[in-house]
Amino acid sequence: MSFFQQARFFTTAGDWTSLPPDQGLEIAFAGRSNAGKSSAINLLTNQSRLAYTSKTPGRTQHINFFELGEQRFLVDLPGYGYAQVPLAVKRHWQQFLSDYLVSRQSLKGLVLLMDIRHPLTDLDTQLLQWYLPRGKPLVILLTKSDKLARGPRLNALRAVKQALQPLSGDVPMEVIAFSNLSREGLETAQSAIQSLFSPPAPAPAESLP
Ligand code: GDP
Repeated sequence: MSFFQQARFFTTAGDWTSLPPDQGLEIAFAGRSNAGKSSAINLLTNQSRLAYTSKTPGRTQHINFFELGEQRFLVDLPGYGYAQVPLAVKRHWQQFLSDYLVSRQSLKGLVLLMDIRHPLTDLDTQLLQWYLPRGKPLVILLTKSDKLARGPRLNALRAVKQALQPLSGDVPMEVIAFSNLSREGLETAQSAIQSLFSPPAPAPAESLP
C-alpha cells in the first residue's frame, strides 16, 4: 500500500482544548473554502470519501486528523473566506488557525491550496504571515489547473513564485500546478508532501583537521 493510502480518520477537533496531544508529526492542509482541498486530500490518499467534500462551502468548521501510522498525521484545517459565515464564527476560526499555525510543535509542514485562477488572496497571505516566520517548509498546490490552458498556467505558477519570494525568504517552498480532474501534479505533490514528514538531515558540521 502506498504511503498516503494508509490514511485513516483519526479524530476531529472543534477548539483548542479538543486537539489531540501535541506530539508526533503533522502536515496541515489549508485553503479558502471551495479551493478543492477535500477533493485533493481524497485524490492524494486515493480514497474517494476520506475528506468530506462539502456541498455548502464553509459548513465544515472543524479540524480533521487523518492518521498515517507511526504518529504521522494529515490535518485538514477549516476552509476560510466563505462570506456567509457569521462574524463571531469567523473570528473564532481565525484565532484557532493562527494559534495552530504559530504554536503547534507537531506541525512540520503546511500544504496551502489556492485556486490557480485566484491565488494569494488577502486571507491566504494572512495565513502565510502567521506560518512563515516559524521557518517551516511550505508546499503550495495551485488547484483546478485544468481550468487554464498551458500558457496561463505557467504564468500563474511563475507569478505566485515571484510574489512569495519576499515573504518566504529561506523557507523551503515548492509550488505545484494541481488538478483533481486531469491529475496534473499528483505525483509531484505526493512526493513533496511525503518529504515534509522526513526533511533531509542537516549537513554535518565540518570537522576540524
Ligand atoms: P474545499 O471546500 O476546498 O474542500 O473544496 P472541494 O474539494 O469541496 O471542491 C470545491 C468544488 O471544486 C467542487 O465542486 C469540486 O468538484 C470542484 N473541484 C475540486 N477540484 C477541482 C479540480 O481540480 N478541477 C475542477 N475543474 N474542479 C475541481
